Amino acid sequence: MSLRARLALVLGAVLIAPLLAVGIAVGVIVPDATRAYADDAAERADGATAIALGQRCAGLGDAARAVAADLRVLLATAAAVSPAGAQAAVDAAVDRRPGLTAAVLVDGAPRAVAGADAARFTDPLLRAQSAASCARREAAADGPAAMAESVAVTDPATGAEIARAVVLAPVDDAGLAALAAGLNLDTGVALVDRRGGTAVVSSTVPHDDLAPVLEAVSEGRLGGGAGGARFRVQSDAPGVPYQIVSVEPVPGRGLPGVVLAVVLVTVVAAAALVTLVAQRLTRPLEVLTDTAERLGRGDLDARAGLQPRGPRDEVGRVATAFDAMAARMQEQVTALEASRESLRETFERFGEALGRTHDLDGLLRTVLEAAMAGSDCVVGSALLGGRGSLALSGNGISAIGDGAGPHASNALDDLARIAGEAVHLGRPVLVERIMSAGPALALPIQRGGDADGEIVGALAVARRPGAPVFDDVSLGNVRSLAAQAGTAIANVAAHEETRRLSVTDPLTGAGNFRMLTTTLGREVERATRFSRPLSVLMLDLDHFKQVNDTYGHGVGDAVLREFALRLKGCLREVDTVARYGGEEFAVVLPETDAAGAARVAERVCEIVRGTPFTAGEDTLRVTVSAGVAAYPDHGRTSTEVMRAADGALYTAKRGGRDRWTSAGGPVSLPT
Ligand code: GH3
Ligand code: MG
Ligand code: MG
Repeated sequence: MSLRARLALVLGAVLIAPLLAVGIAVGVIVPDATRAYADDAAERADGATAIALGQRCAGLGDAARAVAADLRVLLATAAAVSPAGAQAAVDAAVDRRPGLTAAVLVDGAPRAVAGADAARFTDPLLRAQSAASCARREAAADGPAAMAESVAVTDPATGAEIARAVVLAPVDDAGLAALAAGLNLDTGVALVDRRGGTAVVSSTVPHDDLAPVLEAVSEGRLGGGAGGARFRVQSDAPGVPYQIVSVEPVPGRGLPGVVLAVVLVTVVAAAALVTLVAQRLTRPLEVLTDTAERLGRGDLDARAGLQPRGPRDEVGRVATAFDAMAARMQEQVTALEASRESLRETFERFGEALGRTHDLDGLLRTVLEAAMAGSDCVVGSALLGGRGSLALSGNGISAIGDGAGPHASNALDDLARIAGEAVHLGRPVLVERIMSAGPALALPIQRGGDADGEIVGALAVARRPGAPVFDDVSLGNVRSLAAQAGTAIANVAAHEETRRLSVTDPLTGAGNFRMLTTTLGREVERATRFSRPLSVLMLDLDHFKQVNDTYGHGVGDAVLREFALRLKGCLREVDTVARYGGEEFAVVLPETDAAGAARVAERVCEIVRGTPFTAGEDTLRVTVSAGVAAYPDHGRTSTEVMRAADGALYTAKRGGRDRWTSAGGPVSLPT
């Protein structure tokens, strides 16, 4: 979930939840309260009306009894109730209680009537009223609705009724309205005929409100809601011959709907506001996130570009710091790239320098040290050899750098092992950790630095224990140095070969004339400086022309090759054999005096003479003559010594061949 969504959710909860709560409260609690209030009002109106009507009934009773008492006083002095006496009695009653209507009936017929409604209540309506009694909760069956009370005046002797005092008060709409006004009632009240169920006797309730209430009453309900109003029915109030129905309209029936609409509109407005606020609040963070992602993808030009809107704008400050950080990072990356480029150039120049070096050991050491420095390694080996012939000692060098542990030399065996593996597989070998060191890497060195070139060695390096494994840059550095080493080794080999060819006789593999003069010059100089002995043999195959003539030039060549081999076989490592020209050879014998040289000459004559030379299927016997000369006895320069040896050779030839002669005359060989 995005920050904006979360923020909107929280803001929404904070803003909209109370609104909804208020809406629910207003929509649910207020109608309940208004209903309860209306119920209370209806009950109060019902009660007050019942009490007022009850009191009125009691008043009617009192008035009727007062009229009856007046009639009894009359009858005490007269035999019958005179119209005048009756009139006086009712007038007095009406005087006492204005608003009532009082009448005296004799034998059911009105004798006197007085009061506000005297004109409306004539016979037979008065008679009907005389049968009613509000105290008994009985109303007259006919005529205008009224509450009435009557008292009979009887003959004390017979108990027969002489006259009847009737007092009544109509309960029409106006009367009821006056009563309600007197009681300060806002609630509508209606009186309903008890017998007739829902026949309205009088009412202060508007017809539209009353109709649904009457319907409810007809169903036997005594209170509750009907239409838009609350009502209450009291059917047995003392002194009231009617059912009292109070009706209180419930205000604000459409209130929940209105509240809901208001709440909805407000919620929508709040949601819009919340979205706007969330957007404004999260916009800078969004910009920051986008910028961070672009930087993460390597776009180092990405900047948030947000300016803080004051010292307290944290997001703006973060954005500024972020941009500064990105700028610094870009600078450093640029610097790093530049230094990498310069490193690459250095490598290139280094490679060129290696190409001009012909000292193999020095070259390997330089390569190894550079590889170790370029890959943060502390121990390494550069080994020469191909598959199966890779060796650490003699054919390679190893180095232990600063910071290597005390047991780093133990790592060399492991390095030699993975170097062998790299040479065997023909590809780099990476090892996570080797003994006494850390991550290790071995690469085959290929002749000419070529991926298809012959494998001529291996470069193996290791980091200190606990160091991180090789990354691509380090691997690339070592790989590039291994390639340089391959090129340099190829150069050295080519150089060596050229040099060797320039001083070698191509037919016999012995040194050539140039080598002879160079070696002899050097050895004479050394012998002079250190006063050491030095001798030279001049050798010439006897009658070689005949060999050519008899067996052909090819056999002659083969004899020359075999002669050179036999010669090398009977000489020391330090002695030099060179072909002087044709079938003549010279041998330089350092640290050898004339006697020693004579012994060598004797041995040479023997090995030539003693074993026949092979020429295809034939064998042929060859002999050689030798002249021996020693420095400084027979010459003090190389030319003099050579000339002396040549002279001795000539002597040997003349002496009959297959022999040696010393320039200084006969030499006796020790036995
Ligand atoms: P001697 O030295 O005993 O006096 O007799 P010789 O026959 O060896 O003397 P000479 O110097 O007259 O002959 C040398 C011969 O060696 C002549 C030449 O054909 C032969 N020769 C010189 N160089 C080569 C070579 O490279 N190959 C062959 N097959 N023969 C060679
Ligand atoms: Mg010769
Ligand atoms: Mg010869």
